[in-house]
Amino acid sequence: MAEEPQSIVPAYEDEDEYRPEPVAPPGPPAWMDGSSRIGIHTSIAGDVSAALEIAHGLGANALQIFSSSPRMWSRENDSSRIKAADSQRFRARRLELGLGPLVIHDNYLINLASPERVLRTRSIQAFHGELVRALALGADFLVAHPGACCGATMPDSIAAIADGLRQAARGLKLDGLRILLENTAGQGSSVGSKFEELHAILDLCRELPMGVCIDTAHIFAAGHDIRTAQGLDAALQHVDATIGLANVYVIHANDSKKELASRVDRHHHIGKGHIGLEAFGRVLNHPLLAGRAFILETPIDKPGDDRRNVVALWKLLGKEVPKRRGARDGFRVRAKARRRASGRATEKAHPSERPRKTSRAHAAAKRAALKSRKRGS
Ligand SMILES: [Zn+2]
Ligand SMILES: [Zn+2]
Repeated sequence: MAEEPQSIVPAYEDEDEYRPEPVAPPGPPAWMDGSSRIGIHTSIAGDVSAALEIAHGLGANALQIFSSSPRMWSRENDSSRIKAADSQRFRARRLELGLGPLVIHDNYLINLASPERVLRTRSIQAFHGELVRALALGADFLVAHPGACCGATMPDSIAAIADGLRQAARGLKLDGLRILLENTAGQGSSVGSKFEELHAILDLCRELPMGVCIDTAHIFAAGHDIRTAQGLDAALQHVDATIGLANVYVIHANDSKKELASRVDRHHHIGKGHIGLEAFGRVLNHPLLAGRAFILETPIDKPGDDRRNVVALWKLLGKEVPKRRGARDGFRVRAKARRRASGRATEKAHPSERPRKTSRAHAAAKRAALKSRKRGS
């Protein structure tokens, strides 16, 4: 009991160290200029800085990314680490483009509530990695799914999540980075479809910079009817009475493929789902949500879907989006990354099964097709 927990937290108080000459707190980030912020989740396939160009090209002035593969456990010692040169380039370019906030979404495999010891330990390590990478990139927010009970009780799961967050953050100085818990649709045994649950976690993590990200598709699937003005007001009142609206920093703006209270998490294009365009107009212009960043996580079913969704949100704010020259299309970027990945797999598995001539001819045909498409548009 008397044993001190192993930690690298310094034994002195930060305040003591700086008392003789207090350091002035840093000013708000440059993007926090009172302007509306519309962002989109963007692929980092190939290069993390490419995500900035894509978001900017689509007409967004904020963005969300994964900082490593979202469906793979990353090991701290290899590819998941962000090189200093890459993060410097990323930060400099982000500043040039005036993109903010930068939101990072955590890995889907992380479950800080897992009753299984190995999974929980791995989750804490992985979340620590998320925090390290978010700090390296200078992110403003790290959005995290709270977790799933997987057989444990809700109170135990809530305590485990809070404890896991604290352990993951141990020894880190979360300079300007805030962890946001995302509300969930309530699928399976997921924690966080009720704002009371998120509130309980926040309450247990008072020493950490925390907040909440509200996903419109999730809140709707969890049973809050935000389709009407009264429904939206009631939902926001409920949020205020539980976690407090001041703790909401980011809104994930997604329409829902599934109906009200379905407890199923399926995102749809803005205005094409069960929530509808009118309702999104009220969400984006609601005085109680002023100053929040609205980030799209809508599907890309066909080329141009991402831009159409960005344009739709700006339009609801009464703003036009200028078409940017040389803008990259998320659909093509993703298709290219897939081709690259499958090409690598083929090469590794069966080098002899890939006749060079055929693949060269194929590439030439593709180039020709691309050229003629460009000429056509
Ligand atoms: Zn999410
Ligand atoms: Zn979301």
